[in-house]
Amino acid sequence: MPPRSKAKSAAIIAVANQKGGVAKTTTVASLGAAFAEMGKRVLLVDLDAQASLTFSLGADPDEVELSINDVLTGGHALKDVIVSCDDGVDLVPSAIEVAGTEAALLGRPAREYVLQQALDDVRADYDLILLDCSPSLGVLTLNALTAANGLIIPMSAEMLSHRGVGQLLDTVRDVTKFLNKKLVILGALPTLYDGRSNHAREVVADVGERYGIPVLMPPIPKTVRFAEAPAVGRSILRTARSSKGAMAYREVAAAILKTL
Ligand code: ADP
Ligand code: MG
Repeated sequence: MPPRSKAKSAAIIAVANQKGGVAKTTTVASLGAAFAEMGKRVLLVDLDAQASLTFSLGADPDEVELSINDVLTGGHALKDVIVSCDDGVDLVPSAIEVAGTEAALLGRPAREYVLQQALDDVRADYDLILLDCSPSLGVLTLNALTAANGLIIPMSAEMLSHRGVGQLLDTVRDVTKFLNKKLVILGALPTLYDGRSNHAREVVADVGERYGIPVLMPPIPKTVRFAEAPAVGRSILRTARSSKGAMAYREVAAAILKTL
């Protein structure tokens, strides 16, 4: 008898760092667009009440009918909340109500598993699901780490202090111990990288060794193009197709696909 073919289900990748402004959202939007270009079916989930991902993909967080909050606390099926975007990706949007999601989840048993369970329903419909985390290590980020099988940690190559990374890795250790044995750290991703700066080069060279984690390459160069993209609801992969930043994200996306 031929082996029973297992229905393929999406790899789920959390993009997290409790530091703000390290390009988590930019990374989710750009990798998502890169995977879509490669013909993959991609779902992006906005877990941040700031809703930057939702906004940057051209959806208005004030006008979305249903958001991730309705899934996590209101009993709506995730399928009913998905909107499709111009970049060839699907999105589960965030909205201002998500500011109250953490508090609503706190009193619930098994609160760390709510997202994982909600994603189960759509997992067979996608090749990749990327989770854009808020700048905190709260319940929503724990939900992302519990649902994911891979973690990307964007880090600004400019910053001297990576103290927060140790704390994030402690959390990851606890998550793999108690909540999700399948979570693998795909790597730190150096962002906002200025290759002309010795300091940036040293930070990138040091980070993998210091924390004992892989470093995704190439680093994402710092370029003004990234700031321009969200204004038109498209990622840099569409607005500046052959810019260095877009090319770097495509390379990182290809490298990630090989490791999955
Ligand atoms: P986070 O989600 O970690 O808070 P964002 O993705 O929102 O970070 O990025 C923070 C800011 O940095 C945004 O204004 C974004 O446009 C900008 N940015 C992100 N990546 C780059 C880059 N490679 N070059 C220049 N600006 C960038
Ligand atoms: Mg963000």
